[in-house]
Amino acid sequence: MKGKRDCKIIQDLLPNYIEKLTNEETNHFIEEHLKECTECQHIFENMQKELKVNTEKRDEREVRYMKKFSSKMRLLKFIILALIIIYVIIVGRRTFIMTSLSEKAKENQAYNNYYAKLYSYQGDTLTITESYNKGEDYLTTMTRFVNGNQIQKITYYKKGTEQLFLTEFEGKKYMQNSETMLDRHILPVTYVSEGVLANLQYALITGIDSTYCNGKECYVIKGDSYERYIDKETGLAVREIEKSNKEITRQTDIVVDYKYEFNTVKDSDIVKPDITDYITNK
Ligand SMILES: [Zn+2]
Repeated sequence: MKGKRDCKIIQDLLPNYIEKLTNEETNHFIEEHLKECTECQHIFENMQKELKVNTEKRDEREVRYMKKFSSKMRLLKFIILALIIIYVIIVGRRTFIMTSLSEKAKENQAYNNYYAKLYSYQGDTLTITESYNKGEDYLTTMTRFVNGNQIQKITYYKKGTEQLFLTEFEGKKYMQNSETMLDRHILPVTYVSEGVLANLQYALITGIDSTYCNGKECYVIKGDSYERYIDKETGLAVREIEKSNKEITRQTDIVVDYKYEFNTVKDSDIVKPDITDYITNK
């Protein structure tokens, strides 16, 4: 005879039985009781149904959460991909511009006939460099003015086998030993065409803008201590500005303007300087 006391025990055990946590002996005891007790059987069936519903609800919640999560992941992936594409386009464009500018500059550098004029301003000092180059021959003068007064002039001259290196400082004129001149001659055009990689680096970091400078359509590259205006047509710098920075502090910026002409220099432009007043320096 099964009493109400058994029913109480069975009903206490049912949740564990449903979740298969009870041992074999207990299972047997429960199953035997359920066969004979309709009340406990009824409770058992209800518990099973309830568990099933709960499980389904939980699964549904999980599915909903996963869907939400994966759509967020898709959006994130899309954003990352879009950013990568934008980055690649920007880097690609800047690299392309800088490479084609450098190609143009190289073409111009290949000319061995060119005229260049540089104006370099720093505060009250102006340095004008003028250079005629034809083949191996050249005439380059560098004149420095302070507050409009000429204080220094350096002349480099080479025609055929003749070379001259003249300096003039505060009225004193010296003719230097031409041996010392070999490593001193300045080539303005070569100078400004240097630093293609540095240009590219700046361009990638700070970007390239289109602008006008000295009447030319230009790209401008700006670093923290540096601005370079590059002629779109020739790939050559038309203006460079060097600013003060942490390493180099200057009272004023250095501004250099460049002018070039290619294939216009004639033999008659490379004139031997008058050396009458010059004292030979040994
Ligand atoms: Zn019972």
